[in-house]
Amino acid sequence: MTTVHLYKGRFCRQKQTKKNKSHLNAAQVRDFIVCQECRKRRVVYCSHKMSAAQKTQLARLQDLEVYTCGSSLFPSFHPLHGEVFVREALVCNMEIETSYYSAVTKKFQKICFFCGDTDILGAEDEPILSLLKQYSIVRPICRGCLEQGKKPATRNSLKLKKTTDKHSTHDDGN
Ligand SMILES: [Zn+2]
Ligand SMILES: [Zn+2]
Repeated sequence: MTTVHLYKGRFCRQKQTKKNKSHLNAAQVRDFIVCQECRKRRVVYCSHKMSAAQKTQLARLQDLEVYTCGSSLFPSFHPLHGEVFVREALVCNMEIETSYYSAVTKKFQKICFFCGDTDILGAEDEPILSLLKQYSIVRPICRGCLEQGKKPATRNSLKLKKTTDKHSTHDDGN
């Protein structure tokens, strides 16, 4: 929707400074890579379907275990740098990217939104069960994070739609 006029050096896109950020959306999610520090899965983006050769290169990168949150996927001299990439504005304690869950071309295994654990609560477990009645999106959570006092992240309140959108519920105060 935003009209962007790209006058050289005068008027850049206001919201994004990262050159790749326009591609960081759910439609361009292709794969993920595991951070060797925190072991969380970080989304790999590419504007087009990755070739077999590109997938191999990514797999190789994963095998080498060189990726950590915040770094670029491929070094700047690499031909795939800027073509196949990760979000660089990440640090290890950040949650799983929402695009991991909303990926269009891929359906990844559900993992805990907070720590990335694959052993998550099921839809029939509380509090997931109740939350699913209130929100159309309830991010997965593991037992460990729940016991640490974290609440499952939610989006799109179902109640809200019935009544009014104006009343925003900021009820996530721990
Ligand atoms: Zn990490
Ligand atoms: Zn967790």
